[in-house]
Amino acid sequence: MNDQDFRDQAHGIVDWMADYLDTIERYPVRAAVGPGDIAAKLPETPPDDSHTIEAILGDFERDILPGITHWQHPRFFAYFPANSSPPSVLAEMLTATIGAQCMLWQTSPAATEMETRMLDWLRQMIGLPPGFTGVIQDSASGATLVAILTAREKMLDWQSNEEGLFGQPPLAVYCSAETHSSIEKAATIAGLGRRHVRKIAVDGDGGMRPDALEAAIAADQAAGIRPCCVVATIGSTGTGASDPIRPLSEICATHGVWLHVDAAWAGSALILEEHRHLADGAEAADSFVFNPHKWLFTNFDCSAYFVRDEEALIRTFEIMPEYLKSREGRQVIDYRDWGIPLGRRFRALKLWFVIRAYGVDRLKAMIADHIAWTHRLAEAVRATPDFEIMTPPRLALFTFRYHPAGTNDGAALDALNARLLQRINDDGRIYLTQTLVDGTYVIRFAVGQRSTELRHLDEAWKVIRDLAAGL
Ligand code: PLP
Repeated sequence: MNDQDFRDQAHGIVDWMADYLDTIERYPVRAAVGPGDIAAKLPETPPDDSHTIEAILGDFERDILPGITHWQHPRFFAYFPANSSPPSVLAEMLTATIGAQCMLWQTSPAATEMETRMLDWLRQMIGLPPGFTGVIQDSASGATLVAILTAREKMLDWQSNEEGLFGQPPLAVYCSAETHSSIEKAATIAGLGRRHVRKIAVDGDGGMRPDALEAAIAADQAAGIRPCCVVATIGSTGTGASDPIRPLSEICATHGVWLHVDAAWAGSALILEEHRHLADGAEAADSFVFNPHKWLFTNFDCSAYFVRDEEALIRTFEIMPEYLKSREGRQVIDYRDWGIPLGRRFRALKLWFVIRAYGVDRLKAMIADHIAWTHRLAEAVRATPDFEIMTPPRLALFTFRYHPAGTNDGAALDALNARLLQRINDDGRIYLTQTLVDGTYVIRFAVGQRSTELRHLDEAWKVIRDLAAGL
């Protein structure tokens, strides 16, 4: 491809992108294909000859697009959003074109210095105090792994980095029974062992019970197991529940335990002062993560990870082979020492575009709308016979189930709702997912797409009622 071809094709692809976003509502939200359908369209061996971009794009539209679930669809209400936005996409195009590898300050000073500034903007936007320093990680899972590894090293006085874990006392990690699976995964990767992950009981609102945490820590101490890290959640994946950070932070301070706050989804809502109470006490946390790539209109991957003690983080991950030494040394930040991968994309650029293009006020208004619309829809569900709210709207997420009068058998209701969800998702106009609440099958409704409007929630509610009536 020569330079002129690149220019022409790029313009054409930008037109395709704009058309796609303009007409996205015509697609079924969830891909309507079966396992292997797309693989069957892809040749088993790579081509020896060259193909034109027109041919590749034609195949993309015909063979690949049907296998795409449209996460940017305004009627996507499944999981949590993985948001994108036009300014973010434009920045990603620049990032991809520049193709800089930003592992060291020296390998692109602008990327490093912009990352430092953008993370400080985010810190201010969500109300964390100035003592926190931020870095972009690939995911909340990755950030939590980094937190647990740092907590482990600090607790063992950096001895496990030197000697390995052999001969060290067992370390325990505490999280609520509602926590995301990434905590258990991180604890296992960090070598702490799944059986040292304590799932602490929750109260009626789904928040970790401080008394139960205190008891678990005491039991571990009595058994010679060292409490290492508490992971508190703001906005759980299943139902949006939050742990009470302040009392948990006090327990952590008493016992010298690392406190990591996982606000992967809900952290974006902290840009609204009225929701900051959810993070009350987070100023005492050792680390904090939230994902602008979920609900702050910034393309995946962009996980904002904040720490209070950056020296502990760097000491855990720093490694200095000759070929990575640079003449600036400690005068500058080399983000390769702030996480697991060496290589890093220029991810701060999309934050710069998004925050400037919308401005904080507009970002606040978009998230506030999502929350208000979610509450409004939950009220409509609550007021409708044969439907029940199973967990109240927490920020922009609630759960519900279909409960026709006269059907009171729990297993039958679970099966009915599983059938309803399958119908909804096969229908394709909306996309929802499920979770369990106290062992009961419920349907989640999560709002957060950039292009979602109130009318899309009304349309979704009609689809749900119509399909339920036809069961
Ligand atoms: N923590 C919570 C509360 C989540 O909801 C999720 C994903 O939905 C994660 C962690 C994992 O996020 P990531 O995909 O960035 O690893």
